[in-house]
Amino acid sequence: MPQTNTRVTLAHRPVGEATPDCFALEIEQLDELDDGQVRVAVEYVSVDAGTRTMLRGEGFHRQVGLGETILAGGVGRIVESTVDGWDVGQAVRGGLGVQMFATVRPDHLEKIDDSLGPLSNHLGALGPSTGVTAWIGIRRVAKPKPGDTFVVSAAAGAVGSIAGQIAKRDGARVIGIAGGPAKVRYLIDDLGFDAAIDYKNDDVNARLRELAPNGVDVFFDNVGGPILDAVLDNLAMRAKVVICGAISQYDDMDNVTGPSMYLRLAERQSTMEGYAYFHFPESIAPATAELAAWLADDTLRCSEEILDGIERYPEALQFMFNGGNTGKLLVKIA
Ligand code: NAP
Repeated sequence: MPQTNTRVTLAHRPVGEATPDCFALEIEQLDELDDGQVRVAVEYVSVDAGTRTMLRGEGFHRQVGLGETILAGGVGRIVESTVDGWDVGQAVRGGLGVQMFATVRPDHLEKIDDSLGPLSNHLGALGPSTGVTAWIGIRRVAKPKPGDTFVVSAAAGAVGSIAGQIAKRDGARVIGIAGGPAKVRYLIDDLGFDAAIDYKNDDVNARLRELAPNGVDVFFDNVGGPILDAVLDNLAMRAKVVICGAISQYDDMDNVTGPSMYLRLAERQSTMEGYAYFHFPESIAPATAELAAWLADDTLRCSEEILDGIERYPEALQFMFNGGNTGKLLVKIA
């Protein structure tokens, strides 16, 4: 039985970029389990853009206190249990945190079917903050119609790459916005997007005018800031803008820059709607089932980029904010 736990904690609150010195690696003794608890050996944790917002004093969704374990979704297996029906060896997913062993009550966990693929897939294509977020965003909120021009930002990332593939499957013409020529090639050659814009090297507004001369019908935004403005400036009549996230704003949430082009919504009789996946609890099971079917018949791609070792979590978060990842970013804990 494990005697110690290693965890990544918040050493001080980041100002601007969350650099690795904001985190600490701590080792603690493990107590015996209380009745009603299980202990999970964490295998992978999800690296999520939204975690940056939890490192502030005031949470966006939730917050991490100084000295506390960094919150993260994880997958692993039960190694000790005092609870009937939650047996050693069972694969589980939940808010396990960035640590080697999570000691929790099972009502914080869900059992996962590891016949559906490697455990990491349950944070990637099948994960609540990734595939399920994309599915809900497209099928319940954005609802692109066949023939629509659909634009997605952070398009080569975890949520964006899956959102674009579902919109394509639903008959839209899909344009991705991402940073750098390698990501542009990935979107077109590997994921089958119709076009892609490299926002680090192209004029996004000018490229949108070329690629979407009749305007953008649906914009699925993960980024905010100047990219949101450029797309607002190119909306079609009766367009829909979906705010899934705004990673460009997360390093300085006290000074969020709102879109200066929002009056295009009035001019073009358009709407803007935000959502979080957990606003649609009834959609999580159908989303997971359909995503699993697409993974099984090889019609959905979600590449995984995995950094090995719990001590690499701080580096991983910084890597994501610098646009290093393609697809789902994970840290392998054990
Ligand atoms: P991700 O897309 O895998 O990674 C983030 C990507 O954002 C980076 O790879 C980078 O790619 C891009 N990026 C970073 N800083 C940027 C900037 N300043 N301007 C433009 N692009 C930037 O991350 P994710 O975890 O899947 O999250 C994507 C979005 O979904 C985030 O906004 C997140 O908050 C949101 N989200 C929402 C929900 C929900 O329920 N609504 C759930 C999960 C995630 P480039 O190389 O292209 O710059």
